[in-house]
Amino acid sequence: MTIGALLKTVRQYRPKADLTLIERAFAFADEAHAGQRRLSGEPYITHPLAAAATLAEFRMPEPVIAAALLHDVPEDTDRTLTDIEKTFGSDIAMLVGGVTKLGRVKYRGVDRSLEALRQVFVAMARDIRVILIKFADRLHNLETLDALPAAKQHRIALETLEIYAPIAQRLGIGDLKGRLEDEAFRFAFPKEYERVTTLMRDYRPQKEQQIATFRRAVQQELKHSPHLRIRFIDGRTKRLYSLYRKLQTHERDITRIYDLVALRIVVDRVQDCYGVLGALHAKWKPLKGRIKDYIAQPKPNGYRSLHTTVFTEQAGIVEIQIRTHDMHVEAEYGAAAHWQYKEHVDPRTVAKHYQWINDIVARQKEFSSTAAYLESLKVDVFRNHIFVFTPKGDVIELPEDATPVDFAYRIHSELGHRCTGAKVNEKMERLDTRLKSGDMVEIIAQRGKKKPSRDWLRFVKTATARSHIRHALR
Ligand code: MN
Repeated sequence: MTIGALLKTVRQYRPKADLTLIERAFAFADEAHAGQRRLSGEPYITHPLAAAATLAEFRMPEPVIAAALLHDVPEDTDRTLTDIEKTFGSDIAMLVGGVTKLGRVKYRGVDRSLEALRQVFVAMARDIRVILIKFADRLHNLETLDALPAAKQHRIALETLEIYAPIAQRLGIGDLKGRLEDEAFRFAFPKEYERVTTLMRDYRPQKEQQIATFRRAVQQELKHSPHLRIRFIDGRTKRLYSLYRKLQTHERDITRIYDLVALRIVVDRVQDCYGVLGALHAKWKPLKGRIKDYIAQPKPNGYRSLHTTVFTEQAGIVEIQIRTHDMHVEAEYGAAAHWQYKEHVDPRTVAKHYQWINDIVARQKEFSSTAAYLESLKVDVFRNHIFVFTPKGDVIELPEDATPVDFAYRIHSELGHRCTGAKVNEKMERLDTRLKSGDMVEIIAQRGKKKPSRDWLRFVKTATARSHIRHALR
């Protein structure tokens, strides 16, 4: 990566970008890092250039690209953050300072790095752009990880899988999450990586060929519905780490993974999504229980699409994802999507879409000790999550195995205290029932009841519920 190539990338994604700021930041960083080399032997400046290019591909505005170019200056050169502030102003200095702080945090496993995690969330709550720069920094470090000693490779790879990829996932940045995971997978679990790569090599060509044939059949079929506005149809191959995770849960049988290669249909309007779904189901039979309407009920990270899985004569059982172009952009870029069409976006308006970040930071006050708070981060952020519905159709996100009591406390602490029973999918269930994604939960509450039951402490899963119960019993 050179400055010429970076400027070309910036122009490609943002034709009207003002390049002077980026050129000035490059000159500053290039001078500060002069003579330094990466462990790979390359001039150091290639690293900030690569990070900046990733952000340019995400159509990030000029100050973010400038901050990416400067991100290692305060830590690794004799130029300080104050120098950067004097030359580039407080906004860019704040971004660089945020990234520098995150870089100081040494990862020693989720259990022992929770304080570090808290800092990540404080930085994100302040300005989401900091974490986007950190992702770009991390991605290039992973791409050049070969040059590092094995122990360090392993640490960086694990930290990526346990912290950065889940955060990217929760920010809805599907593309970056997938790239971070696949780069880290190789170093974190080399044997499994080898196994999954081989498996993919054996199955993928045949599957892709079948999907190509099926794709033509779909195109042919949709010609009968000329009113539907289709933009494009393509096949999407599952990423390696995501396949590995799925193989762990699905009886390790690759033939039963129906989205190994999925068909993706991108259309103009929301009504075209449903129109296409109808046209496809008229021709190919859907698998029971696999039709998902994430348009009417988006995932909490904002993901929207229709999913269905159909029996085909061309390619066996195939998953199909149907979405508008806007939904497609959101699915790939997530939190970064806000910058896709607009030049000026207030980072605080973006933060509003990710209320959970502020919740995590604010919740600190609820806990009597730092240890308890940090424990809650571990459960609430990094466990697998399920999504359940209130009777009004609001989506509530909870950790795996959460119970109706966790649900009640997530809605409101008073509702938790007054809870006496729960209906799950309109049937009375015990309060220690393990909820599943898609369940509709209704809490039966008793007016005037103030005290929770001590028994609940045996089965609640969220730290929020646990801390409210303890507090009320005291
Ligand atoms: Mn760096």
